[in-house]
Amino acid sequence: MRAADIQADLDRVLVTEEELQARLAELAAEVNRDYAGKDILLVGVLKGAIMVMADFARHLTIDAPMDWMAVSSYGASTKSSGVVQIRKDLDTPLDGKHVLVVEDIIDSGLTLHWLLEHFATRGAASIEVLTALRKPDAMKVEIDAKYVGFDIPSDFVVGYGLDYAEGYRGLRDVAVLAPHVYS
Ligand code: 5GP
Ligand code: MG
Ligand code: MG
Repeated sequence: MRAADIQADLDRVLVTEEELQARLAELAAEVNRDYAGKDILLVGVLKGAIMVMADFARHLTIDAPMDWMAVSSYGASTKSSGVVQIRKDLDTPLDGKHVLVVEDIIDSGLTLHWLLEHFATRGAASIEVLTALRKPDAMKVEIDAKYVGFDIPSDFVVGYGLDYAEGYRGLRDVAVLAPHVYS
């Protein structure tokens, strides 16, 4: 059962709200330079990327349209299988667009690997990845993310858009969930 106070469900904070904001501001400054004069499209992957998208986009000074995609891994395993199903597709054609995929976290990398291959067939002028978090020790496929917020250990984290059983997304920091919550 969930605690009445969200803080009681957390083991420790890994990245604070202030650290996230400062880093997203730095990444936005890079993206402003890299994409000046280009036809950029931000593609958020629902639902985890909602907070990153909202904050990152507000640090940008270039005008950057947003689109959203919802995907789910399926298969027998509860872990990401790498076999991905599109639950909500983009509204925007990718032809000629400089696509910047905005992600919450790269764990195994399997979902993003599939997504990038899929986008490559849709005529984008370029495709890059921005992720708030990355777990280098958990990656099963190499993802060349150009913009990375923080590398973190392989613990299961919640907050800043990341959920456990759809909870905890509204937590402002990124924190390790206490084991008593899922045991
Ligand atoms: P992948 O393993 O394919 O890189 O990760 C796919 C998705 O699993 C991520 O976009 C994210 O939604 C979820 N995920 C991976 N690691 C974590 C984690 O530590 N905490 C939470 N809440 N979700 C995660
Ligand atoms: Mg995600
Ligand atoms: Mg989730």
